[in-house]
Amino acid sequence: DQLPPADRALVERRAALLGPAYRLFYDTPLHVVRGEGCWLYDAQGNRYLDAYNNVASVGHCHPRVTAAMAGQAAILNTHTRYLHELLLDYAQRLLDTLPDDLGRMVFTCTGSEANDLALRIAKSESGGTGVIVTANAYHGTTELLAGMSPSLGPAMRKGQDVWMVAAPDSYRGTSLADGVAAALVQMRARNVQPAALLADTIFASDGIFPTAPGLAEAVAMVRDAGGLYIADEVQPGFGRTGKMWGIDHLGLTPDIVTMGKPMGNGYPVAGLAGRRDILDRFGQNMRYFNTFGGSPVAAAVGLAVLDVIRDQNLCQNAAAVGEYLLEGLTSLQSRHSVIGDVRGQGLYLALEFVTDGATKAPDSATALGVVNGLRDRRVLISATGPGANVLKIRPPLVFSYAEADILLRCLDECL
Ligand code: PMP
Repeated sequence: DQLPPADRALVERRAALLGPAYRLFYDTPLHVVRGEGCWLYDAQGNRYLDAYNNVASVGHCHPRVTAAMAGQAAILNTHTRYLHELLLDYAQRLLDTLPDDLGRMVFTCTGSEANDLALRIAKSESGGTGVIVTANAYHGTTELLAGMSPSLGPAMRKGQDVWMVAAPDSYRGTSLADGVAAALVQMRARNVQPAALLADTIFASDGIFPTAPGLAEAVAMVRDAGGLYIADEVQPGFGRTGKMWGIDHLGLTPDIVTMGKPMGNGYPVAGLAGRRDILDRFGQNMRYFNTFGGSPVAAAVGLAVLDVIRDQNLCQNAAAVGEYLLEGLTSLQSRHSVIGDVRGQGLYLALEFVTDGATKAPDSATALGVVNGLRDRRVLISATGPGANVLKIRPPLVFSYAEADILLRCLDECL
């Protein structure tokens, strides 16, 4: 009812043109027309604090990024079959941030393409087909990855050797190692050779579990069985957790790291870094070409994002403001019994609502109420997890202490 007539017309046009697969956020959908830093502006000029967008990671419409994008677009934009310095400068800069064994880059446009290619490489390298994912994972939108994204529902898994294991849940005390050990036993019993463990380092759609219990042991077991470890860093990568990569907190060296979302601050830039020997064997047998991936504009944008992360100390900001927010959330927990758990790393934080602290039964109604209550207070956030009861707090990395205070005050009001 609160929707302005012009926005109601947009809702109707969307439904007519795009159909029901396209979902809108919020009971009262938001019509945004402009963004700057951590703020979005609606058609009436009201501003909203964006505490959710991990794509516009260095801030909406960052002037250095838009200048790089427009500047290179005015000079040359083509594919990767010509010599061009920018692609190599960008590949070098990315590889310099990763463990030494990861010495080759491949560029794509989306995280889905990166994960899809990572699985092709893992299957080719291992000779296996079995893939292990967590029980509420999301890894992408291709048919292959939809089948490995249980958060989308069970319908897609037909015909794939996918094993789902319990996510490493620090609140309920599950270890990834237990599930992976059991999956490997089942694979052996069915004569399925493992190809990979595909795991989001921060287990975002499983409910946000940084420094996941049992991840290192799970990786070792999968490798012993001949499979590869693919770290999906599409969510935690590029400073989100207070370090450049989620794996930096764990000291793990994956065989392949996939990346995307924040890489181009909204321009589609994604890719993977892989072990030299594995990528070289793969390249001898197969070739890879991606029409738009790794274009000079993509590389210029990606380099600008890396420059901003470095020059504005955004890893440090994510760590410091994230710590401050975590303290504020913990203080809210002491006053609101509906908050069962507070956790997170850097600027990727979770507030888990439960109906009962003893049984830890998910309270999705409160989560939904808070998401919509915050929207009414012009703060944007969403919920995740298998029970849709975990607030996902994931603002741009330029989030300030003052902006954290706004979020905490509005959250307190809602609760
Ligand atoms: N992996 C993870 C962990 C993701 O969160 C996403 C996107 N939500 C993807 C992969 C797929 O990325 P894209 O939407 O760019 O294809």
